[in-house]
Amino acid sequence: MTSPRRTFAIISHPDAGKTTLTEKLLVAGGAIHLAGEVKARGQNRRARSDWMKIEQQRGISVTSSVMTFERDGITFNLLDTPGHEDFSEDTYRTLTAVDSAVMVIDAAKGIEPQTRKLFEVCRLRSVPIITFVNKVDREGRPVFELLDEIADMLALDVCPMSWPIGMGGEFEGVMELATGKVSRPEGDSRTFQGKIDTGVTLSDKITEEIELAGIGYPTFDAEAYRNGDLTPVYFGSALKDFGVTDLIDALADYAPPPRPQPAEPAPVSPDEPDVTGFIFKVQANMDPNHRDRIAFMRLCSGTFKRGMKLTPSGSGKPIAVHSPILFFAQNREIADEAFPGDIIGIPNHGTLRVGDTLAEKPGVRFTGLPNFAPEILRRVILKDPTKTKQLRKALDDMAEEGVTQVFYPEIGSNWIIGVVGQLQLEVLLSRLDAEYKVAAGLEHAPFDTARWVSADEAADLKAFTDINRAAMAKDRDGNPVFLAKTAWEVGYVADRYPKVKFAATRER
Ligand code: GDP
Repeated sequence: MTSPRRTFAIISHPDAGKTTLTEKLLVAGGAIHLAGEVKARGQNRRARSDWMKIEQQRGISVTSSVMTFERDGITFNLLDTPGHEDFSEDTYRTLTAVDSAVMVIDAAKGIEPQTRKLFEVCRLRSVPIITFVNKVDREGRPVFELLDEIADMLALDVCPMSWPIGMGGEFEGVMELATGKVSRPEGDSRTFQGKIDTGVTLSDKITEEIELAGIGYPTFDAEAYRNGDLTPVYFGSALKDFGVTDLIDALADYAPPPRPQPAEPAPVSPDEPDVTGFIFKVQANMDPNHRDRIAFMRLCSGTFKRGMKLTPSGSGKPIAVHSPILFFAQNREIADEAFPGDIIGIPNHGTLRVGDTLAEKPGVRFTGLPNFAPEILRRVILKDPTKTKQLRKALDDMAEEGVTQVFYPEIGSNWIIGVVGQLQLEVLLSRLDAEYKVAAGLEHAPFDTARWVSADEAADLKAFTDINRAAMAKDRDGNPVFLAKTAWEVGYVADRYPKVKFAATRER
């Protein structure tokens, strides 16, 4: 009998406390014994690869990873999403591989831009969200104001599950609203994990707040939460280890186990016996000495066993998965078995691509992994023309990883790359140099945005592309892309060609 799975991600704005919370979750799950190891491990890994210097310089984490911990018989798979403002498609795609998310909010700041962006991605897929309002040990904004902001800005019902008794200097603990049990700070560092329910005298102000909260917000409704219409809200302090176990209990009690996944010809239920999964991330050159890459697969159905043959939808040629990797907090372990909701890493030499379905019996195809319209386009200028082949390989590799998108114009020889955030441009140049030994520069492209074009009738598409040849390009897979100067131009052209569809994302 396998243990239940909870596969989730943490979404937050930088500095809200995601790293600290991750550490505390892993400690609580017994995965690591000393807080701080998450960062230490990260540094170790960073040292291995040149391009990751950018991470070091900026003190940010560009790569995502997978961490697993267990508690009370439940296996938690935590997929880390990069937390920097300039995030890539990687971040979005990671969210397609989870069943729920924890949204971490800084009590002093409320909803910040990136929290909101990531939340919108969750909403697209109805990913249910548990909210953790962090840093209550510091002076924060009034609790009602925070709750109302979440409700208004995200158009979501909020249901406080706990209540902070004061914040900052006046912080006296957190009350679990359903039971009235209070966790209080203890000792010099004022941390506390357990709960006590005696001897608590609340000030009139807090008593009144709690009464008002009982009237003003909906009661918890598990179904509304699972549909993504309501978020239960917990208050705590990752740093002081307050409310962290409550959060794990909430994930255990309410967060959905692996859900059926959207697929063609029909959604795939986790109970189906045949093994299926999809690749949501590919990481190349984790070790510059080995041109290997790891494809991250989310298992959607069946029991995966080591050595099993799976057929990728991309190449159609079965591969035997002999050395899959399960990602544990301390080190990678070779997986013998994995279950729906688990993530396994599959080493390969470029055969596996983001968006690929892998299946024991071919014929299934998971849908809904989007390619996003790039927000920044740049022309790639090659300094040494004899390196064209290497450049093409590098751009294709990175497109495959989802670091950048690449467009090959119909006219002209300068390839164009598209990214969602500025940081990706730096990553690209640094990796071209370090991993592919290609010196290149970037210059402004005459275009600012891209749309994938299609039409029901081939003739309609041809009529469009013939006239707009100077703005046409092909993506890495040969799909036609229209490059435009502005979003306004896209609208203008779309009006003139009603039979052509312009898509900002391309589902793979
Ligand atoms: P991330 O960017 O979201 O991963 O944030 P970090 O976990 O790195 O935290 C950002 C800063 O906030 C660090 O200096 C943390 O020590 C601090 N921090 C995190 N959680 C808390 C908390 O509960 N209380 C206080 N006072 N500081 C916190």
